[in-house]
Amino acid sequence: MRVIYFIIFLLLLGCSAPPPTVYDLIIANVNLIDGTGRDMKSKVNVYIQDGKVNAIGTAPVTQTENVIDGTDKYLIPGLFDCHAHTSSYEEDFPRFIHFGITTILCPGGSKSSNKYFARMRALGNQDSLPAPRVFHTSQHFTMEGRHPVKTYPEGSWVEGKTVFYLRDTLQIESLVKQVSQYPIVGIKLTIEDGPAPPFVERIPQALINKVAQEARKNGTEVFAHVSDNTELSMALKAGIKNILHFTGVDLDFKNGTSLIDSIYNSDLSWVTTLMLDKSFIYPLHNDWVERVEKTGLFNPEDVKLLRDPTQIKQAKQMRLMYKNFGIDDPTLKNIIEPQVAEIKVLYENGVNMVLGTDTGNNFIFPGYSLHEEMQLMELGGMTPLDIIKMASFNAAKMLNVLETQGTIEAGKVADMILLDKNPLETISNTLSINTVFKHGKIQRRLIQPFSTTKN
Ligand SMILES: [Zn+2]
Repeated sequence: MRVIYFIIFLLLLGCSAPPPTVYDLIIANVNLIDGTGRDMKSKVNVYIQDGKVNAIGTAPVTQTENVIDGTDKYLIPGLFDCHAHTSSYEEDFPRFIHFGITTILCPGGSKSSNKYFARMRALGNQDSLPAPRVFHTSQHFTMEGRHPVKTYPEGSWVEGKTVFYLRDTLQIESLVKQVSQYPIVGIKLTIEDGPAPPFVERIPQALINKVAQEARKNGTEVFAHVSDNTELSMALKAGIKNILHFTGVDLDFKNGTSLIDSIYNSDLSWVTTLMLDKSFIYPLHNDWVERVEKTGLFNPEDVKLLRDPTQIKQAKQMRLMYKNFGIDDPTLKNIIEPQVAEIKVLYENGVNMVLGTDTGNNFIFPGYSLHEEMQLMELGGMTPLDIIKMASFNAAKMLNVLETQGTIEAGKVADMILLDKNPLETISNTLSINTVFKHGKIQRRLIQPFSTTKN
């Protein structure tokens, strides 16, 4: 009998591996904001083993090696930018990591061939060279003569390689089958009539429906690029569950339209990209320009563009455009506040709101801009705790990787940022970065001035 008890005892021991005697890394006595939206926990120890969070506890730390003193510091999850194009990942990746963006979602682009995606993923999958983890959609699904090829004709668009033109339902069947073999999170579908005049026809509803239907059949999802209410309803009508821009959408909650109802009934994940609005008027704000310049981390050519008279003229025209939308005094606050007010209602009603910047566009600087996106959310009235959740937990939920990523909890990969200042006091304190960890490893951050890191 005793032998049986002993065997059972041994079996029980085997069920849960004993904690390691020496951890790879401990961040001790730190203030933890774990990304779940729960309140901050003070003075906890975060134990890292094999690239993962092994445990979180408060018992006194006895280990002396590989311990980082987190006293008066703040630990938050590595951030996600869920709308990040890159035409030069060699230049952009070190910048993402420098600013604590440990995961990106790339929704296509003119360079996004399968080969380009594969190189990005390979870099993202290691943790010695600075690079975020890379998720991506398929290449753009659009129609001939439309966005994004029409808008960015200078890009290296090649049908079948970096872009797919939809023609008919039969072709869509084979196209979706083809791309769903790629390691994608879903299909990028560009339902867009512009974005600037002269406007084009939108993709017909029947073709949108077919893409969504075939995606479901092939076990993948659709990520829709929309830029107004009409395009949003078209996506919802097709049963699409991921929306890639909030910019351009204008919701009327007071009158409880059917559009609002279908949003609530759609189990939606929705990426914000309010940085687009900020980028339109960036050259008119010398203080913003100076702040970017002061980092010394971005391509001087891109920064110089901020002072280019043509860009300044265009930004002035954009300000006027906002007047047409009823914003008499188009300050950043006046442009952003109504949008964040809507985002807040959606968030509070369970829509999975996720942060993304649309970096790759002018004046949306990789890595830095995600912090600006967070600041825009705060400017519009969201709390830092919710904003951090949108940039971590919610992002991982949209990408279906919440089991392994997105929060600082036992069992998850140890992608984290140690901050010197409390981000709950003001979200701009997320820029007070002390250390960036990816997969439990301290990441090399950039040293001024701008340099390209070719790998
Ligand atoms: Zn985009």
